[in-house]
Amino acid sequence: MSKCIFCGIIEKRVQAKILYEDTLCLAFEDISPKAPSHVLIIPRKHVESLNSIEEADDRMMGHLFLVAKNLAHQKGVVLSGYRIVLNTGPEAGQSVFHLHLHLLGGRPMAWPPG
Ligand code: AMP
Repeated sequence: MSKCIFCGIIEKRVQAKILYEDTLCLAFEDISPKAPSHVLIIPRKHVESLNSIEEADDRMMGHLFLVAKNLAHQKGVVLSGYRIVLNTGPEAGQSVFHLHLHLLGGRPMAWPPG
């Protein structure tokens, strides 16, 4: 059994508010939201970070972005704007080592990020 918390959500051993799932990915509400809309989109395949992706993962990666766009529609943030974040490594603040896109929206966001 995997110790990865996100693999636990995929395997339905760990509870999450799942918004979408298909053969390649899963999307669920972030447990500690940093914006009114904060959704995580993860591949079913356990990939530690962007540093670990390979040529064969290109369809999966593109799919994550397509699903993020569809969820932005579902959350009603397409016109107001939203941010996709993919933290990679310690200095970027990655805390869960299963690749994930953050979809953040519903409030104005500063640039550059902190
Ligand atoms: P990161 O810091 O980029 O690795 O993002 C990890 C995100 O996962 C954080 O925003 C956490 O709030 C979120 N998170 C951690 N555990 C869970 C969980 N069990 N269910 C939903 N979101 C989680």
